[in-house]
Parts: sequence; structure tokens; C-alpha cells
Amino acid sequence: MSNKQNTAVQEFEYKAEMKQLLDLIVHSLYTHPEIFLRELVSNASDALSKARFSALTDDTMAKASGESAIRITLDPKTASFAIEDTGIGMTEEELIANLGTVARSGTLGFMQALRQEKKELDGNLIGQFGVGFYSVFMVTDEVSVETRSARAGSEGLRWRSSGQGTYTIEKIDKKEPGTRISFTLKDEHKEFAEEYRVEHIIKKYSNFVDFPIYLEKKQLNSITALWQRPKSELKQDEVNEFYKFISNDFNEPLDYLHISVEGAVSFKAILFLPKEAPMELLYRQGELENKGPQLYVKKVMIQHECRDLLPEYLRFIAGVVDTEDLSLNVSREIVQSSPVMSKIRQILTGKILGWFEELATAQPEKFRTFYKAFGPIVKIGLNTDFTNRDKLIELLRFESTKTGEGEYVTLKEYAARMAPDQKEIYYHSGAGRAQLLANPNLEYFQDKGIEVLLLSDPVDVFVIPSIHEYDKKQLKSIEKADIDFSKGTKDQKEPIAENLLAPLLQIFRETLGEGIEDVLESHRLVSSPVTLVSGKDAMDSQMERMMKMMQQEMPAGRKILEVNPSHPIIRNLSGMMMANDKNPLIRTAIHQLYEGALLLEGGLDSTTGFVSRMNELIEAATLSR
Ligand code: ADP
Repeated sequence: MSNKQNTAVQEFEYKAEMKQLLDLIVHSLYTHPEIFLRELVSNASDALSKARFSALTDDTMAKASGESAIRITLDPKTASFAIEDTGIGMTEEELIANLGTVARSGTLGFMQALRQEKKELDGNLIGQFGVGFYSVFMVTDEVSVETRSARAGSEGLRWRSSGQGTYTIEKIDKKEPGTRISFTLKDEHKEFAEEYRVEHIIKKYSNFVDFPIYLEKKQLNSITALWQRPKSELKQDEVNEFYKFISNDFNEPLDYLHISVEGAVSFKAILFLPKEAPMELLYRQGELENKGPQLYVKKVMIQHECRDLLPEYLRFIAGVVDTEDLSLNVSREIVQSSPVMSKIRQILTGKILGWFEELATAQPEKFRTFYKAFGPIVKIGLNTDFTNRDKLIELLRFESTKTGEGEYVTLKEYAARMAPDQKEIYYHSGAGRAQLLANPNLEYFQDKGIEVLLLSDPVDVFVIPSIHEYDKKQLKSIEKADIDFSKGTKDQKEPIAENLLAPLLQIFRETLGEGIEDVLESHRLVSSPVTLVSGKDAMDSQMERMMKMMQQEMPAGRKILEVNPSHPIIRNLSGMMMANDKNPLIRTAIHQLYEGALLLEGGLDSTTGFVSRMNELIEAATLSR
């Protein structure tokens, strides 16, 4: 920060990350420069909301004398553009904090997205990450912001910047609280000084803004509280537009729910399911924390993203909730702890889960799209929302050994088609369908025609084991050693004799040593020589890998190696052992079998030993020909 001498104009330098952001905006490709208008209108509208809200809660705030409105003035001849609001305005500190620094993690996520994906800087990205105000630098080289805070004792200020690394602030004469933003459009963007163009854009993006938007004398938007109207009067188009407006999503919603509740609490709501999980969910992990629908009280917006309206696992749902049962001048803390809020939240959660259920039966295609995008988030509810656990369990969908790729089965369907003598529900978890299907542990189940759920969503291992049972049937990982395989498999060939198997298993044990809990005869294998299973009380191996990925401290889980006594390799090894139990090839083969099993389940950390041993074995095999 450096003061220029002799003038009342102070010059400030942008923070480093701010410079980077501005550089990106100015130099990137963008497909929707008109977004700047939506961002400015949205800021003006927020400022008006804040003024309206603080006038209700704080007596010291100056009240604007005129109408609460947004006014746009254009001059096509000089290509000049100005937008003015009678909102809350900004103090000098606020100017520096709001327009001089990158305050939100979202902006950093935005830059990251831009770099990683080499994405075009389209309106959708800007909208999602809320780069907001700075989008004006898409259409102009220099911006002037004249503002006066509604706070008592505030003065008029002018902030000016060309987005090049510095900005200035000076005192000016400004009578009324509010903000006026003005600039000259770049040559290639002169169209935004044309009335018809601005009118069109406002109708497109800002039709539902809560305050009148005037262009000269003409009001451009229609102010309607959509959710207050009866459901039968809502037109699909209008609803879609409203969704785009509140969510900053360019796509239409997948579906919407209109709610009108009267009783212990009264509220109206309109809620939307997006078609896709927004980018920010990927880049701002954990930030669902601070999302949620908008909260209105008696048609006045109180909170933009109210996290208390929905449990975290539903906060990807956009919309508006409007109640008469809170008082307008409530603080965030009071909203949070209010019994009215928890009642609303409880009712909303029930309605939303009912909505999902209905989609699943009435519109399965939609449900599938929804489940693909948000299933991993909703599942988290199983571990957090015990009241609705049963409903959530019914919503679960799985691929299985009896579904095609991308097709789902429910636990109910699974239970209904279990054979009468099958007592348990089996699942198998891993990184993906192909890898799961290749795992030898499935052989017994495939052979017997027993359906196995294939869990490949990383969240699954944290939530599914906790279900324990469904319809009085235990859920069990097929990796567990305590499954009853007494029936044997159909085409099992003659196993080697018991008195030969025991010493061979002993050699396995000695060779693999501490790395393994035990080596046992297998009854589950058909075509593979060996497989790894977990001990009765051990962790599922997919769970173990996830924990490792998250760098959780944990003892290395030891596994049981099961050996297929009918497999040709095992028979051959037994033969070699009888000829000369010191033959080094036996040990090499055992190590290789073990690491091969690890490799199949994705648990082999280093392949160096594996490959050099493989070469050794190939050499031995080719030598004897
Ligand atoms: P966002 O609006 O997403 O917070 P912006 O970059 O658009 O991000 O704006 C940054 C901040 O500047 C806003 O949060 C607000 O505090 C302030 N601001 C922007 N425009 C106005 C305005 N017209 N009146 C008052 N404050 C404003």
C-alpha cells in the first residue's frame, strides 16, 4: 500500500492471487461476456437485500430516501455503461476487502479449474465460482465504483481500477447510500450499450431479481415470488428460468418440487434437483457445509445459502424456502437454533426423500441420472441421519453380478430373488466393475449362481458395512473367511490328497512368513490357484486401501491366502515338492502366486519383484522346451 503525495487519491496494490485472477479474466477466452451484467445486477440486488434487512434490524443504518431499485443508464454514442443501486454501499475497509482481495476459496478453485481443464472461461464457470464483479474486466479496461455505505457517519468514495495490478480510492461527494458502477465498453463489446441488448440479457438472467431493474424509465424484470403461487399455475418454462436464475446453472433442472405446508409451522418452498453435480462440488470438497437453499421470511430474503434448512447430505438441492414463522429481524445464530428451523428441516427432509422415492418408481430414468450424480453424497446420510436411515437404505442402488454395466438393483430386489437356502446378502467392493469381476473370490458365487453386489463407489466401503442387515439378512463381504462354502463347486477337479496338501501349505507359510496371517485350503475357487481373503474380524480390503489413501494410521491388515487344491499349478507344486522340497522354483512360484493375488485386488505396491520373478519363471519354462 503506498500513498501518492499531494493528492487525496490513495493507490493500493492487489494481492498476488488477485493479479493472477485478473490476468486470467483479461486474457482467457470467454464464451459469454454478457455474464458481467448478470454479476453486476446480482451484486446490486444483494446490496439492496442487505439494506432492507439491516434497516429492519439496525436503527443506526441510514435509509435510502428513494425507491429500492436498480437503474441502468446507457449511451451507445460514447459506449458508456452505468449501473446504480440504492443498497447498502461500502465503507473504505469494505472496498479494500471486497474488491481488492480474493476472499473466497471458490475463486482459487476457479483458477485451478481453469488451468487444469484448459476450460474456456465461460459464463457457467464464472457463475459457479462467483468470480462476480471482476467479470467486468471482460468488457472494459477501466472501472469506476462510486459508493457510500448506509452505516452512520459514512462518506462517499470512488474506487477505480484498470485491473492491472493497482487500484485507487478517493473521497467524493455522494449524498445517498448505495453504489454506482460505471465504465466505457471496449470497442468489441460496444453492443452492451444498446438498449435492446441489455433488455434481452436482463430478461434472460435477471428476470427474477427481487427489486425493480430500470433501463431509463422502463422496468425490465417481472418481480414474482414464484413459490407463493399455487403449483397448478406454474409453467415449466418459468420454473426452469427461475432455477437457472437462482442456481447460476446453465442447464435446466432435472426435476422440481413445490411444497406448501400449513400446520405447526407454515412455509412454501420450491426445490430443484440439478442434472449434474456442479464443478464446485469437485473442487470445493467439503464445502457443501456452507450451501443450502435460500431462506426468505415473508418474501424478504434473509440468507442466500442457508445451511440450516437441510442436512448436509441434501445440500446440493437448490431452491427457496419462505416462511411466515420466523421474525424478519433474526440473526443467523437465532435462525440456527430456532425450533421453527428444525421443524422446517425435518419436514423438508421427509418430503425430499419421498420425492426421490417417487422419482425412482415413476421416473426411473430421471432417478438414475440423479443417483449417478448425487448418490455418493446422499449415501453419507446413512451415517448421519438415523431417523431416515430406513428410507435411505431403500434408495440405494447397486450394480451386481446379475445386472449389466450401469444397471442397478435395490436391496429389496436382491432379497426377493435370493434362493431359499441363501441366508446372507453378499457384496464385493473394489475400484471398478471390471476389476471386481476378475477377482477369484467371486468364482464360487458365479459357479453357484449367487448374486453379489458390486460396490465401486469409494463411499460404499464407509457406509454399506454399517447397514449390517437388511430384511433380517446379514450383509457380508465375500472376502470374509467365515462364509460357508461347504457345498463345493460344480466342476471342481480331483484335489490333491490331504497328506500332500498339508506339507505344501506349510511351505507356503514358511515362504510368505509374517506378511500373511495364514495359508488355508480353499473351497471357493474354481479356476484360480490362490486368492486372498480377510480374517473374520479384519477390515475389508477396499476399506483398507481407502484408509491408506487418506493416510490414516492403521496396522497393516494381514490376510489369509487360500489355496485351490485342485488347480494344476498346485498339483504341480506338490509334485515338485515330493521330488525335491528344496527346489528354489517352488518358493519363487509361491511368491509369485501371492503377489499375483495382491495385484488382482489392486493391493500390490511395487511391481519390481513381481516382474523379475516372472522373468525367472519364463526363463525356467522356456529352458525345459
Ligand atoms: P460476490 O458477489 O460473489 O460476493 P463479487 O466479486 O461480485 O463477489 O463482489 C465482491 C463483494 O463486493 C460482494 O460480496 C459485496 O460485498 C461487494 N459488492 C459488490 N458489488 C456491490 C454493490 N453494488 N453494493 C455493495 N457491495 C457490493
